[in-house]
Amino acid sequence: MPLFDVPGWSVKSDPVPEATSSSRKRRRASEDSDKLLAAEANLGKLMNRFKGNSSSQRVKEPKSADKSRKPKSKIDTHEDKKKAISLPRPLKAVDSRQSLHRPTKKIKTKCAVEESSPSVNVVQSKDGLTDLQKEMKESLNGARFRMINETLYKSNSSEAFSMMQGDKNVFEEYHTGFRHQVQSWPTNPVETYIAALSDYPPKTVIADFGCGDAAVAHALLPKGFTVLSFDLVSTNAFVVEADICNKLPLPGSEPLHDKGDGQGHTVDVVICALSLMGVNWPNCIREAWRVLRPGGELKVAEVASRFADDKQFISLITSIGFRLDSKDVSNTHFTTFEFRKVPRKPKTDREWTTILSKGDVLKPCEYKRR
Ligand code: SAH
Repeated sequence: MPLFDVPGWSVKSDPVPEATSSSRKRRRASEDSDKLLAAEANLGKLMNRFKGNSSSQRVKEPKSADKSRKPKSKIDTHEDKKKAISLPRPLKAVDSRQSLHRPTKKIKTKCAVEESSPSVNVVQSKDGLTDLQKEMKESLNGARFRMINETLYKSNSSEAFSMMQGDKNVFEEYHTGFRHQVQSWPTNPVETYIAALSDYPPKTVIADFGCGDAAVAHALLPKGFTVLSFDLVSTNAFVVEADICNKLPLPGSEPLHDKGDGQGHTVDVVICALSLMGVNWPNCIREAWRVLRPGGELKVAEVASRFADDKQFISLITSIGFRLDSKDVSNTHFTTFEFRKVPRKPKTDREWTTILSKGDVLKPCEYKRR
């Protein structure tokens, strides 16, 4: 399987089954054709909605579709507009089990899928969705995950932070897709870090930058470690909401003298596992330097395909005040790096601007559709 395919997120086009006796056959053929038209109409509506109703991208709906019944979206348009980044509408409305459980009753619904006759493929699963509906839903969820992912990689972290804070469901949608993705990986860098850090002295203070579900904290806090977990949105008590490319609520200063370590640090290890996402990610490395104790460790795991040339990446990190201890390219999916904080000279704003403009030494990670 290609590295970052999204398994299960593709729509098959199964033929509509045929009847056996000729009269039944004619009647069913006509019913099937109506159902198919309805399904096409609804798929068209879904796709149009998904593409942000851009007229240039509209999928044509069959003429027989009832266009007067416009689905009412739960998503407020003013909510969308106020966001710095626009994303396709969430698929919440597709997932209304209540109405899908009652296929014969006409219900005013929020979504085109719910409006369709759910019996296009008559076998309903336990969750009340037919196979076709399930495939459509998975396909759209996959597309939405890829879209959010792309937005995170191609925008500034402050925009990503506003977007997630503006609608925390976007974060949940992203992580549903991310968790789905993790299942297809041969190893998960976070698990490797948990195993390695378990052997550190329990007094070790770890900061997990872009922690997601905070797996590191869940695993190591009970063992006596201090784990400080940061992400754009907090989904559990272990996570502090913060932009890791901006000033974090942790002590520590930049170098005060000509060459130095700064003061007031508390952190022994910083982990950046697949979290160097925004175009300004070098600022996250600057934050790692600021909060780390002298000689502290920076562990970075990134998707292997993001590196056009990892020497440029290493050179950028070392210019911020780190020394490379080791690099591991043995994994098919990820490259991992161990850096150590070294003293550095203070930098001017101009120097920082130059460093920050080099975020493109890492390519965005793109998840392909199967
Ligand atoms: N480290 C976790 C999650 C990886 S997914 C793991 O390996 O399982 C990448 C995470 O980085 C996402 O949760 C995303 O929200 C977070 N992230 C990306 N940019 C961020 C930023 N600027 N500030 C805080 N978190 C960020």
